[in-house]
Amino acid sequence: MRIAIIGAGLAGLTAAYEIHKLNKDAEVEVFEAADRIGGKLYTVPFASGPTDMGAEAYLAFRQDATDFFTELGLGEHLNAPSGLPSLLYAGGALHPMPAGTAMGIPGSSEGLEGLISKETLARIDAEADAEPIEWGEGDVSLGGLVRERYGDDVVDRVVSALQGGVYSASSDDLGIRATLPELARTLDAMKAEGEKLTLSGAVRRILDQRAARNAARAEKVPGYKPQVFAAFTGGYAELYEALAEQSGAAIHIDAFISGVSRAKGGYQLKGADGVFDKVLFATPAPTTAMLLKDILPAAVAPLKTIKLASSVVVGMKFDSGEGLPNNSGILVAIDEPGVHAKAFTFSSKKWPHLGARGGALVRASFGRFGDDAITRADEDDLVDYALDDLQAITGFDGRAAGLSEIYVQRWFGGLPVYGPQHLAAVSEIRSLLSDAQSVDVAGAWVDGVGVPAIIADARKAAARL
Ligand SMILES: Cc1cc2nc3c(=O)[nH]c(=O)nc-3n(C[C@H](O)[C@H](O)[C@H](O)COP(=O)(O)OP(=O)(O)OC[C@H]3O[C@@H](n4cnc5c(N)ncnc54)[C@H](O)[C@@H]3O)c2cc1C
Repeated sequence: MRIAIIGAGLAGLTAAYEIHKLNKDAEVEVFEAADRIGGKLYTVPFASGPTDMGAEAYLAFRQDATDFFTELGLGEHLNAPSGLPSLLYAGGALHPMPAGTAMGIPGSSEGLEGLISKETLARIDAEADAEPIEWGEGDVSLGGLVRERYGDDVVDRVVSALQGGVYSASSDDLGIRATLPELARTLDAMKAEGEKLTLSGAVRRILDQRAARNAARAEKVPGYKPQVFAAFTGGYAELYEALAEQSGAAIHIDAFISGVSRAKGGYQLKGADGVFDKVLFATPAPTTAMLLKDILPAAVAPLKTIKLASSVVVGMKFDSGEGLPNNSGILVAIDEPGVHAKAFTFSSKKWPHLGARGGALVRASFGRFGDDAITRADEDDLVDYALDDLQAITGFDGRAAGLSEIYVQRWFGGLPVYGPQHLAAVSEIRSLLSDAQSVDVAGAWVDGVGVPAIIADARKAAARL
């Protein structure tokens, strides 16, 4: 059996590995348009050591991902973060990251003093007395709901800053069911129980449930402390190289596929030789729309509703980190006057294995959905914005600290936007695929943008194929 996989990002490489594991006789060929594998996983060789310019970590409570990395022989290469807290820059000042929130959405005004206006603090605490939320089965904008219940401050200063760090989009453009299913499930449960639907009530319920889960784990494992993230010693290159090596697949780089058509006994790829029995599309949604147009034209319209958000990462290595705050990083509120960056990761503070290299490693991130201009800014300007913003926000003078290495990575269409229409579109595409024969899809737009979600989704697609 010949199987073609289009795209050698995390989804395509995971699927290639998994297919080989399930069927050693399958002949798998992976076609990658770029001149390297990995897609949005990209580790750059800094003189001080391998440094990630795309994803840098994964959600470590996803045990399935950790087990998968262990299966690949990478279990010993996983590192825990320092646990140093992150900060939030809003209203021209640094604040501790508010504790006791669900993705930045508070259940009460406690701990938010100074970060948002007094009127908004009072509004959060009075929200339980407002008319109940109208909650249905479809999805709605997360930013829209929080604005309606708590006001603009909470979205612009807190929630969008947190969600923007994950999705490169403001909360207004993201769906609740699509990006915060825990909140959606809680509202569903409260509705089913006939409880009055309020945002503060739902968030408090989520926080109580999380506390109970952590307490139960701590009872089983004394000293248990939830570890949220983990990262590879040598960056994500360890993962994409291991997957490629162990996949047994023929991987073609510089191999752009421009179309797929049915052929006698299977499928033909424009840009590849021969006929394939099965094809996996592990490409971003707009490309998948273009590639499916001949064999599954009905999938084109729903695929085109999935938009992409662009961003830029500027990686900077300083000889000295003196004066850099002792924190893991800083998230910047939307539209802070004079600030271009949306976030800083103090990688050498966040990750002890990177701190051990000496000096300081900082990643500045720019760009949100709907504001792509910054992604096209001049490279020198981007470095200046990164250094100027860092100095204005923290006082750390990067130029004086000895900027020994810089890498600017633009991610055009780096992340799919999980808008309120997203789940309906994916479910429509899925049902069309279940009728189609021997073709499947995988990738960041299908079942979550994070590394563990993509691995789980790609492994399922491999098993189906
Ligand atoms: C800046 C940034 C930071 C991130 N940080 C994290 C993080 O810390 N933790 C986390 O869990 N996730 C993070 N993510 C998300 C995660 O990295 C991505 O969602 C994931 O890597 C996407 O994998 P994929 O295989 O779905 O897609 P891609 O990586 O986009 O792979 C698709 C591949 O298909 C190729 N391709 C496209 N068209 C064609 C064609 N016509 N023919 C052949 N090949 C084609 C592309 O070149 C690409 O290599 C981050 C993403 C970005 C952009």
